[in-house]
Amino acid sequence: MPYFDHAATTPMRDCARQAWAEYSGLLNPGGQYGSGRRAAAVLAEAREEVAELLGADPVEVVFTGSGTEADNLAVRGLYRASRGGRVVASPIEHPAVLETVKSLAVTEGARLEWLPVTREGRVEDFSLLDAPAGVATLMWANNETGVVQPVAEAAARAAVVGTPFHVDAVQAVGKVPVDFHELGATTLAASAHKFGGPRGTGILLARRSPAPTAVITGGGQERGLRSGTVDVASAAATAAALREAVGEMAHEEARLIRLGEALVAGILREVPDARVTTPLPALPGHVHVLFPGANGDALIMLLDSLGLEASTGSACAAGVNRSSHVLEAMGVAPEAAAGALRLTLGRTSTEKDVEELVGEIGGVVTRARIAGSL
Ligand code: PLP
Repeated sequence: MPYFDHAATTPMRDCARQAWAEYSGLLNPGGQYGSGRRAAAVLAEAREEVAELLGADPVEVVFTGSGTEADNLAVRGLYRASRGGRVVASPIEHPAVLETVKSLAVTEGARLEWLPVTREGRVEDFSLLDAPAGVATLMWANNETGVVQPVAEAAARAAVVGTPFHVDAVQAVGKVPVDFHELGATTLAASAHKFGGPRGTGILLARRSPAPTAVITGGGQERGLRSGTVDVASAAATAAALREAVGEMAHEEARLIRLGEALVAGILREVPDARVTTPLPALPGHVHVLFPGANGDALIMLLDSLGLEASTGSACAAGVNRSSHVLEAMGVAPEAAAGALRLTLGRTSTEKDVEELVGEIGGVVTRARIAGSL
């Protein structure tokens, strides 16, 4: 079944399944006896591997229950550890960050200030970072349009005035090279299921100082930042998936760029008035398109009925697509945003998948336009 939603989640890699199966029988890594030490040794190895692959120290790696959790622990925790006051964020963050900063305004009186976004969805004006803030945050790559942000430049600006800086790298890790120390951020979030690891495992990279204040309280596991018995098998599977993803990154990048270009060319051939909203630089194989006059939900359902799986890319709660805050911030009119389609390629994508979609897109858009005019 041609699958075009790798940015939502990507199939688990065999190496990750094998690692998970191999270590699923391990017990509590906190146990002060043989089985505990065996589990702790596997966990330590997974931590070291993740650290090495992402340019961090092992002590900076915190295993969490999701990318969302890593974002929450970082943004909320850094704010609580700081002087408070302003929070600087982009308005195109994933809800994992966006809703967290909004809740800081409600519960802790934070003053939110939004980084301006260009019509291409890029953040280029960092002047808000020149005054100190309780926390600042910018995503590495956007989950809807795939646009890659100049995060190192933003981190450097925040560092000058001592503002703790968080980067949501959930869409970037495993697809583009990520080096935490070189980046210069205070914290970084990743999610295993985006690069072929298990769902329900996230990674928080957190410098020793300034460290986030704990948001979850409990037994003090994971440097006290993520209390709760650690899922060692999933940590090992995450490390295995990341190793493979990083190992094949250069080759996959070239292949996905080629496939993505063929997809865009095919779509524009079949639907000449389609508007491609994925600017460069962008994630390889990430294609976001607007079909004027079409209804996005109809696009998804019509494609699904043909066995082609894709999404609109905007945050989806219980299968209901809400209008996109990302497109709104880019100045896209609501009528145009209604015809959004996100096609994201990944490890299992083939030329045949692309040909199949291109072969159907003209008819699908015609019918989705009829739905859009009703
Ligand atoms: N941040 C970004 C940019 C994402 O794309 C996602 C998931 O789509 C998340 C955070 C949340 O990750 P998770 O699904 O692991 O909670």
